[in-house]
Amino acid sequence: MRRPFIAANWKMNKNTSETREFIAKFVPEVKNESGVEIVIAPPFTYLLLTADNLKGTNIILAAQDVFYEEKGAFTGEISPVMLVDIGCKYVIVGHSERRQYFYENDDIVNKKTKAAMKAGLGIIVCIGESLEEREAGMTFAILQREIEKGLEGVDPADIVIAYEPIWAIGTGKTASPEQAQEAHAYIRDRLNVLYGNKAEELCIIYGGSVTPENVDSLMACKDVDGALVGGASLKADSFARIVKFRR
Ligand code: PEP
Repeated sequence: MRRPFIAANWKMNKNTSETREFIAKFVPEVKNESGVEIVIAPPFTYLLLTADNLKGTNIILAAQDVFYEEKGAFTGEISPVMLVDIGCKYVIVGHSERRQYFYENDDIVNKKTKAAMKAGLGIIVCIGESLEEREAGMTFAILQREIEKGLEGVDPADIVIAYEPIWAIGTGKTASPEQAQEAHAYIRDRLNVLYGNKAEELCIIYGGSVTPENVDSLMACKDVDGALVGGASLKADSFARIVKFRR
C-alpha cells in the first residue's frame, strides 16, 4: 500500500517572519493527519529555522536542490551531508526550473540523485515534458529518457518520482486527471522495467498547478500517489486543504 505523499516547494519565496507565520498556522491544521507524508521544502536560508519550528511535528523537511560532491571548493553549493546534518530527510532533484535556468541535464540529475542517496536522503526526482514535446507526441519518449538516464544505477528504495508537465507548472493549467493518470501509469510501467516489477511500491506524485480545487480529482487517479505543490503551498490554509485531500 503506497502512503500518500504531499510536498510543498516554496521555491524562492518567504522570509523569516513569513516562514514562522506559515508554520504557526499550518501545524495545528494538519497535526492529526497521520495517513499522509507531509513535506516542506523552503529555500536553503530558511532550512534551519524551519527545522527548529517543525521539531516534534508530523512534517518532514526537504531541500529544493543539492550538489553531488561531499565537500570542497564548490563556491555557493550545498552538499547532501550538510542537508542531513541540519535535519533534511528529502531533497528535490531535477526540477524543470533547474533544468531550464541552470542547465541541469539527466547526467547531473543522476549524479545528484546518487550522492543524495549515499548520504541517506530520500529523493524527489522531477521529470516531465514541455508543451512543444507534448504537442509533438514525444511525452512518453521524454519520460522514458529522463527515467532511464536520471535513475541509471539508482536503487529504488528512497525514490519518489514527481511527474511535472512543464506546461502545467505555475501556469494555472493543470493536467486533467486522465492526462495525469496516463503519464503516471506509463512511468510506473517504465519503473517496473527498470526495477524488476518493484514499482508498485513506489510513490509517483503529480506537480503542476495543484490547488485545493483540483487535488481531489487528481488524487482519485489510481497511479497518482501525491502532489508536489508550488504556488498553492505558500498559504497555510490552501496547503492544509491539499494535505487533507479526499479520494
Ligand atoms: C512546482 O514548482 O513543483 C510546481 C508544481 O509549481 P506550481 O504548483 O506552482 O505549478
